[in-house]
Formats: sequence, structure tokens, C-alpha cells
Amino acid sequence: MMDAFRFVPPAGTPISVADLLGSIGAALISADTLMQFKEAVRVRVGVRYCDFVSTGRAGLTLALLALKALDGGKRDEVVIPAYTCFSVPSSVIKAGLKVRLADVNPTTLDFVPSALEKLDGSRVLAVVATNLYGLPSDLPSITRLAHDRGIYVVDDAAQCLGGQVGGRPSGTWGDVGIYSFDKGKNVTSIDGGVLLTNSDQVAEAIARQVQVLPKCRMSESASHLAKLLVYAAMLHPRAYWLPNSLPFLGLGTTAYRTDYPLAQYDSWMAPVGHRLFARLDAITAQRRANADRLKQLLPWGPLLDPVLPGLDAVPAYLRYPVLIDPDYRDAVVAALKAHGIGASASYPTAIIDVPELSEQLRCEEGGTRGGQAVARRIVTLPTHGYVTARDQERMAAVVSAVLVGERRK
Ligand SMILES: *Cc1c(COP(=O)(O)O)cnc(C)c1O
Repeated sequence: MMDAFRFVPPAGTPISVADLLGSIGAALISADTLMQFKEAVRVRVGVRYCDFVSTGRAGLTLALLALKALDGGKRDEVVIPAYTCFSVPSSVIKAGLKVRLADVNPTTLDFVPSALEKLDGSRVLAVVATNLYGLPSDLPSITRLAHDRGIYVVDDAAQCLGGQVGGRPSGTWGDVGIYSFDKGKNVTSIDGGVLLTNSDQVAEAIARQVQVLPKCRMSESASHLAKLLVYAAMLHPRAYWLPNSLPFLGLGTTAYRTDYPLAQYDSWMAPVGHRLFARLDAITAQRRANADRLKQLLPWGPLLDPVLPGLDAVPAYLRYPVLIDPDYRDAVVAALKAHGIGASASYPTAIIDVPELSEQLRCEEGGTRGGQAVARRIVTLPTHGYVTARDQERMAAVVSAVLVGERRK
């Protein structure tokens, strides 16, 4: 039986009343919840330096500005995957640098290694790996290929907090790492970004950028608090149909924009962020278990392919990505939504097809056909803590009904 008022959001992290009350308590008892949160992140992933800023986009922009300053402004290109979150190219442009695309392999969503082997270290400042949907990119190889050519590496783990590759937490590879505490990320404080590094030199360059950032405005803090309450109440599948029909939270939308502020982290949001972060292992284990179950249930075949994590990767599975034949993809997403599942075709285009960027892109000779194929085929399924076994059975049944034409439920 379908429940007309159940809608499973595409992404998010459940926040309970106990979390809200506990966060208020923590804010009242302790003056320095932000410092405690920072220290918890730093110790947990084992890095020497950790700074918090307003958003993940701000963090990535500031990381690139720091690397640019270290380089003395000599090199101005940043290599990013041909298919990724639009925040990645917008951060490059906002840092006053140029976007160079390297193609991705649809089967892994990671860089095609040969696209990185050709990189010219005299023009390319940095490579940004983006660990999409919580599947760790092959940072051991990416770091080796880039460092051999004198190119910096940014491990953008905005979607992969809790994942690891080659025995090391995602976000701690390369020269700088990034996490995000946005609403649809592994854990959230509504907004927030983290910069991580083990290098004294890079840490100093980041500190110079972060020191001069304006404080979060009171109006912004008030807006965060309001969004936190709405988010906590509305993420539940019994309530989500409401915000889903109102674009208030902007969940699941993707627009290319560069007008976001570079500012300090909102310390009012630290208690709730810290509280969820303390549960990261349990939150990630649940997403992983949900991904494993989907892998068992989905009707794999010629029209439906899995995305495969690397052999030495432990994914965080922020969402569960699959590749569907382009002739059926939109029908599958529509059918899932009609059955109360917040499936998503994720980012609407490959980066090369973002209209705002059309004049500003450089590509590797191999082109970006892999990235464009992903944009035509990808669907992501929700893995968060509100997803039930019944929801998952429904996801598999709806996908089979569209692809195989035999409705089982
Ligand atoms: C979400 C995201 C960002 C930006 O983080 P925000 O906190 O939303 O600004 C950067 N990179 C990637 C890969 C992301 O998914």
C-alpha cells in the first residue's frame, strides 16, 4: 500500500528533538562549542590543522586562493572532473582561476587516469578530486600523478566525510581537504565548510585567508536557526511532501552561482553540528548498510549498471548512484517520485554543458564524453536514516517495473 503522505527526501541527516534540546543545552553550558567541534574533527581524521568557514564552497574557494598565493600567482588552471557538483567550478571561478576539465569514467565516477597523465604542471596549479556521492576517488593514484608533476591536490570530501581510501580518511589526502556541513551532506549544521591540511606552509597560507573573513551576521544566524528547525521537522518522510512542494530549503536543487559570501562559520550552529558529527560512525554505517541492501535488491542488467567503488575504498554512500539507460532514465526518476521516493538525476548536466561556464572552460584532448554520459544516465537513490526496508523494496520494484515491465508490488 502506498502512503500518499510519505515522501523519502533525496538526502539529509535526521535531527531529533533530543538533538535540538541537547544542542541548546551545550550552547548554554559551554562558551566554546566551536573550538570543541573543530578539535573533534581534527582529532577524528588525524590532521594537524583544521579551520571552519561559512560553507564548503567558501572553503574550496579559500583553499584555492591559498594555493594560488603559495604559487605566487604563476599557474592559473584547476583540473576538476567533467561531471561533478556545480559548486566545484564555481569555487574555481570565484578564486579567480580557470577551470580545466578532465574526463571521468562512468563506472567509477572518478577521473580517467589517462586524463591526468597528460597534465601540464607549468599551467595547472591544482587537481580537485570530488569523491562524488561518498564514493572515495582514487586519491593514492591522483596524488602520485599530480605530485610527480608539481601540481597540488585538493581532496574535496564535501560528500565523503566518513569514507576512506588506502587506509586514510577521505578529506585528508592531498595538500588540502574539504568537508561540508550543508543540508544534504554526510552530517549537517545547515551551513558550514572545513579546510584541513597537514602542511605548515599550506596551513599558514589558509590562515592568512581565513583571518580576514567577516563574521557571520546576526541575520544569517537567525536564518540558520529557522532553517534548522524547519529541517529537523520537515526531513521526516511524513512531513517532507510539504517542503518538497515548496522550494524553501532548496534541497535537491542545483544552480551554478558564485555570489555566495566568504565568511566565518556560524558558531551558533556548532553544537548541533558537533552532536551529529559525534554520531558519524553510526550515521555512515546506516548509509552503507542501506547501500548494500540496494545492491542486493536492484534488478541489474543491460539497462541498469552499478557504479563501482575502488578496491581499497570504504565508501560513505551519501547517496546510492546507479547508471540507467538514457532512454529509460527520466521515466525511472518520475516513477520513483510518484511512489514517494526522492530519487534524483542529480546534477542536470556535465560541467561542459553549464551555460554560465561556456566561455571559460578548457578541456583535456580526450574530451568529456564520459562526463556527458554520466549526466544522461545517473540516478541517485536515498540512503539516509529515514529510509526503511519497505522503501528500499519499493525502490527496487519501481525500477524493475519501468525497466523490465513486470511490476512485482
Ligand atoms: C556540496 C559540495 C561543495 C560545496 O559545499 P557547500 O557547503 O554546499 O557550499 C563542494 N564540493 C562538492 C563536491 C560538493 O558536493
